[in-house]
Amino acid sequence: VVQEFDTVVDSVCPFCGVGCQTKVAVKDNRIVQIDGRDGPANESRLCVKGRFGYDYAMSPERLTKPLIRRDDAPKAGDIDLRGVDPLTIFREATWEEALERAAGGLKRIRDEHGGQGLAGFGSAKGSNEEAYLFQKFVRQGFGTNNVDHCTRLCHASSVAALMEGVGSGAVSAPFMDALKADCVIIIGARPATNHPVAATYFKQAAKRGTKLIVMDPRGQEMMRHAAYSLRFQPGSDVAMLNALLHVIIDEKLYDEQYIQANVSGFRALEAKVRDFSPEAMAEVCGIEADVLRQVARTYAKAERSMIFWGMGVSQHTHGTDNSRCLIALALITGHVGRAGTGLHPLRGQNNVQGASDAGLIPMYFPDYKSVENIDIRGQYENFWGQTLDPKRGLTVVEIVDAIHDGEIRGMYIMGENPAMSDPDQSHARAALAKLEHLVVQDIFLTETAWHADVVLPASAHAEKLGTYTNTNRQVQIGRPALDLPGEARQDLDLIVELANRMGLGWNYGHVSEVYTEMAQVMPSLKHISWERIEREESVVYPADGPDVPGNEVVFTSGFPTTDGRGRIVPTDLLPPDEVPDDEYPLVLTTGRLLEHWHTGAMTRRAGVLNAIEPYGIAAMNPYEIKRRGLSQGEVIAVETRRGTVEAILRADREVADGMVFMPFCFNESPANKLTNPMLDPYGKIPEFKYCAAQIVPA
Ligand code: SF4
Repeated sequence: VVQEFDTVVDSVCPFCGVGCQTKVAVKDNRIVQIDGRDGPANESRLCVKGRFGYDYAMSPERLTKPLIRRDDAPKAGDIDLRGVDPLTIFREATWEEALERAAGGLKRIRDEHGGQGLAGFGSAKGSNEEAYLFQKFVRQGFGTNNVDHCTRLCHASSVAALMEGVGSGAVSAPFMDALKADCVIIIGARPATNHPVAATYFKQAAKRGTKLIVMDPRGQEMMRHAAYSLRFQPGSDVAMLNALLHVIIDEKLYDEQYIQANVSGFRALEAKVRDFSPEAMAEVCGIEADVLRQVARTYAKAERSMIFWGMGVSQHTHGTDNSRCLIALALITGHVGRAGTGLHPLRGQNNVQGASDAGLIPMYFPDYKSVENIDIRGQYENFWGQTLDPKRGLTVVEIVDAIHDGEIRGMYIMGENPAMSDPDQSHARAALAKLEHLVVQDIFLTETAWHADVVLPASAHAEKLGTYTNTNRQVQIGRPALDLPGEARQDLDLIVELANRMGLGWNYGHVSEVYTEMAQVMPSLKHISWERIEREESVVYPADGPDVPGNEVVFTSGFPTTDGRGRIVPTDLLPPDEVPDDEYPLVLTTGRLLEHWHTGAMTRRAGVLNAIEPYGIAAMNPYEIKRRGLSQGEVIAVETRRGTVEAILRADREVADGMVFMPFCFNESPANKLTNPMLDPYGKIPEFKYCAAQIVPA
């Protein structure tokens, strides 16, 4: 325990969507310790990332000066630039030169080719205010809706299904409500790894008697606390979930009264799932019919049941269908709209909820208002004083393809790392290399920044003031604890600088002014002023008044859909896009490790975390390893139709026979070089969780 510090700053954790509140102890402009604060989502708890993952902000690798690509430097493409001196590729520049170069290149493309020649990726790691200004800049300054962020790669399909089914993409109840539930389903999520403090609530709930049902093709720690653990066949979610729906309907366990009052589409669902008996689906999903029946009864008969899900549900070409099944489960049983019930897609990044709410997505203005709606667009045109693009923009993977097609020529990327996070990485990196003009704003020279024409050194979470919205819809405040290093500048200031150099004439004096403007256009933030968030530290939206707590549970009297009813959309079985065959007989799935977060740009520069998980791995079941004559610890090469990646083999009983698991945070073993970019047709999310692979000699 560090005894001496100069100051302690109240803030929030920069990593996952749980939104733990923190106390950041600082001495000599260095963070020396982080402790948990008594926030509503963490009650003083922190996980290993929140507690020990802070020193990336003080890394000597931080960008401290603007950089401009040298005229003779090659574009990176798929070249391995590790170990290359950045100053052989870039030269240091003044802010004036860098900003002029950055804005000038974007302006030239806009003026010569129109706004559709440009696109922007914002960040779920940034604040609400940054997300709002970023999307406003792209829409107003570029003149396009080609703006997106990593939500496209995590819960886009969940949001598509939720918007269609219940009229809102946010959670219906906080994860702490698991403590009030009699039954909790966790499917396609690994909270002990990815939402560790939320996992403590689930474990507590199980200890108090809540029946935990954990569904995951991989084994996981939560199964030790579960009444039922269903390790179903990867990709067979719809078969398993439709079998549960079949049982609930067949055994009349549904809530007829609730359906009549609140739900559309029940008869179509009834007809659809008739053929999905547990007996018929058992072989498809690998779960015994009797277990499926018991699980369906447990969920439906409980007084209060909740469903939590994660990327295992969403990152499939049938991701939207998976979520549709979960929504149908909740709607036909009436397990929504009351404390201890509901639908909760666990958010991955600390502000992915807020960034999406703030409009950092190509089809919606803030608060999920369609850009194609003429009345809504008219309101924004009046408010922003400019004609806006009437068409929905392109999504993350579509933008990459549009670069290859020559349609998109320039990009502005703030705090995202598509060179590591996008599927079929070589294809994505080749696109970045092909851009005529790329501006990257970040705190490190990320794999994406290597491709940039101009690199703008920006602010780390610990250096800025702003609001962040966690998975529970709690809007919280992050405060600066450190001074910016070198010449680095605030992200918000940089967006304003670029906007003004493209002729927008913006004038924001303080972060709170951006928040206030944002709250003016977002009904969800009504009654939640900047001052209120500063005072209360955490406010749930929606709130009914300035002095009353926000509504933790929503849909208490119908849904925010056009007719006020929840809508069931029945689903069919669709196989994954790329199934194993003789050439590629294994299933590759990707995800995270407890100690590393997203593409590793931050946590791999955090000493403690990187010491625990220091190198790229590929995990397989010990039996599979033995059968193949391999040994734990040896270097193997995992190959798919898109490439080959070397990694150190780890024996892991949680990985099923016939599967390989790779985390996507290691740049020396980049799992996304292997993944399939095929998209879910509704959410436009790639199939990260399933593709055909094989092991070849390293
Ligand atoms: Fe941070 Fe999430 Fe860990 Fe909380 S659970 S400390 S928000 S990474």
